[in-house]
Amino acid sequence: MATADYGSRVCAVRNGFRAEGALAGNRAVPGFRAHIIGSSIMGGGYGAAAWYLGGMPPMTAALGAGLCAASGMLPDLDSGEGVPLKETVGVAAAIIPMLMIQRFQQWGLPLEGMILAAAAIYATVRFGLAWLLENYSKHRGMLHSVPAAAIAGQITFLAFVSTEPLHRYFIAGAVVLGFLSHLVLDEIWAVRQGLFGPKVKKSFGTALKFAGPDVWPNLVAYGIVVALGAIAAGDAHSTERMANYRQHMEHSARVYPQTYQPQYQPPQQQQYQQPYQFRR
Ligand SMILES: [Zn+2]
Repeated sequence: MATADYGSRVCAVRNGFRAEGALAGNRAVPGFRAHIIGSSIMGGGYGAAAWYLGGMPPMTAALGAGLCAASGMLPDLDSGEGVPLKETVGVAAAIIPMLMIQRFQQWGLPLEGMILAAAAIYATVRFGLAWLLENYSKHRGMLHSVPAAAIAGQITFLAFVSTEPLHRYFIAGAVVLGFLSHLVLDEIWAVRQGLFGPKVKKSFGTALKFAGPDVWPNLVAYGIVVALGAIAAGDAHSTERMANYRQHMEHSARVYPQTYQPQYQPPQQQQYQQPYQFRR
């Protein structure tokens, strides 16, 4: 990476923090605060709509709104070392293990194991991911792209296991929405009202894109999308099957309580399997 390129990146980050407002018209990129405000508005709307219109439990709706707001920071992880990278990586490192609590339970980890796993994930994200991003990401590279938004959503989907499949899609959707809001804001900033109508800056089209100019980052990004997609599809299938099965177990326990008496031992098995097979 050329040093000049690096310098301009750091400069853009500093501008994002210091010159908020004063230079708003001239800056090439919207600042940290503009992104947070944008994604928070999106998150608030998303959560409120899910709560009012979709009947989502208020806690789930609030978690979705918060994750959407926080995800507005994610694409600028490629801005080089600085406050955004440290803050964002720190927040992600802390939130990912908490999202995974149910996943840990599914793996049958005892409390001590959960704490160890959470600490390991924190360290991996906080130091490993930060190191990778500082050394291998390029500003407005593939982190500012639609496939990157998909990857963020897929990781959330795999981390957050819920007994309600719909909640899982809602939470993963919140991250994708927050991520995309950042890309859209970056693109809006690239269009300026000039003297003779709207003017487009050089940075236009570098944020909300499906592929970049370099081959390898594109291949890596799409490779991750496909791999995570396959894992997520398999996981969704098995988790939803389990949820379905559990629902039927609870249902039959309520409807046929007599089957739990010892004298009905052989029919007990049939009672469990019948409603389950009807669904498949
Ligand atoms: Zn950006």
